[in-house]
Amino acid sequence: MVKFFNSLTRKKEDFMPHGDHVKMYSCGPTVYSYPHIGNMRAYLFMDNIRRVLKYNGYKLDGVINITDVGHLTSDADEGEDKMMVASQREHKSPWEIAKFYTEIFMQEVKRLNIDMPEHVVPATSVIKDIIAFVQGLLDKGYAYQTSKGIYFDINKFPGYGKLGGAVDQKKAGARIDVDDEKHSPYDFVLWVKAPKEHIMQWDSPWGRGYPGWHIECSVIGNKFLGEYIDIHTGGVDHKTIHHENEIAQSDSLCAHQVVKFWMHVEFLQVDGGKMGKSLNNMYRLDDLKNKGFDPEDFRYFYFMAHYSKQQNFTFEALKGAQNSLKAFKMAVRSHKNGQSNACESQLENYRQEFLDAVNDDLNMPKALAVCQKVLKEEKSEQIYQLMMEFNKILGFDFEEKAENKIPQEIEDLAKQRWQAKQNRDFAKADSMREELAKKGYVVKDSKDGYVIEKAW
Ligand code: AMP
Ligand code: ZN
Repeated sequence: MVKFFNSLTRKKEDFMPHGDHVKMYSCGPTVYSYPHIGNMRAYLFMDNIRRVLKYNGYKLDGVINITDVGHLTSDADEGEDKMMVASQREHKSPWEIAKFYTEIFMQEVKRLNIDMPEHVVPATSVIKDIIAFVQGLLDKGYAYQTSKGIYFDINKFPGYGKLGGAVDQKKAGARIDVDDEKHSPYDFVLWVKAPKEHIMQWDSPWGRGYPGWHIECSVIGNKFLGEYIDIHTGGVDHKTIHHENEIAQSDSLCAHQVVKFWMHVEFLQVDGGKMGKSLNNMYRLDDLKNKGFDPEDFRYFYFMAHYSKQQNFTFEALKGAQNSLKAFKMAVRSHKNGQSNACESQLENYRQEFLDAVNDDLNMPKALAVCQKVLKEEKSEQIYQLMMEFNKILGFDFEEKAENKIPQEIEDLAKQRWQAKQNRDFAKADSMREELAKKGYVVKDSKDGYVIEKAW
């Protein structure tokens, strides 16, 4: 049984989908600048859940949104629209900005081998649905109109704040919004009436305008997954405002709880602190690449901490991940074509141990430890196959890179040498070792097999 920690109940719970497919929603990127490695932690988390569920035999129906309109520079309806800011900065239309950064985002997740949801949906593709949803909330009395837009009336939704205590937090921290027309300062905008100069705007029953940020997730979830969503993911920063608002919108319109499991990934920190443009530490995969790291090294790094804990990124720690991954891959490959016969019941025990770890709220550090234990077994093709099975979750590329690939001629020679050694023809084995060395390869023997490496 898969167990996940549910932020809503603040408990680890058994996971059971509502229907025959797991309906999963993930808050996606605001496509106004390059995604950084902190964002990537959130999508690796999504990938992790998806792969673990698939490994358990579930079929998935997943959605991720692309925020290409309406996200203000603060989550609480303040500041300028992030897309507009980028558009002015880069002298491009918001559409060009969105297209450019959406493509970058898609490339980045591909580089990390992230298993993407079945639907990738830009907010601007569902404007009609957004209008209908907002109209629904107005009709049911959950929303009201002012001269600035349509607002959600949080006092009409008694459950407001159940996820993260948003009202208290906002009371404590936020500036009080001095808008006399609002019923409560904490009411949030569903639809913004746009001034003429605002570039992105659409017709609506309330005049020209554009959607508030929170509404797109409720609408896209409803349109693509329906009224019962099994899992909703995002970073912890979204818990207190964005997700609270999503719950208010969706549960009010559907008149029942829409999302069962709310799952949040803690933040990636850099050098023990926050990432920030001014701190010059908002690293991207390319920054890692320039320092000699593969996206896979970052993938391994992700697995080294539990998602519910903050993880501290340093290049030193990434170097550690890189070394561990290198050793891990070599160990896995050393089992390929291994001659020992692994014990079936032992394999089954390992399989269970690995499953228990990943099913225990994605305990990936423990799952990696199980792998390490498995790899210490005598060289066996069955162990290799078992690792390939585990790799459905890990998602690494265990194939040798083309430049490191051992040519067939060398493979054959090494095999003959191993045979000679098994036949106790040590003179022949030694001369073949020399021949291999001349061709630039070394063979390292263990009692049950050998590995070929390039001599440097
Ligand atoms: P955004 O594009 O700002 O909406 O962020 C996209 C996703 O990345 C959201 O789920 C955020 O919660 C998440 N996120 C942003 N910064 C970090 C970070 N430092 N660590 C982990 N997740 C993050
Ligand atoms: Zn969202």
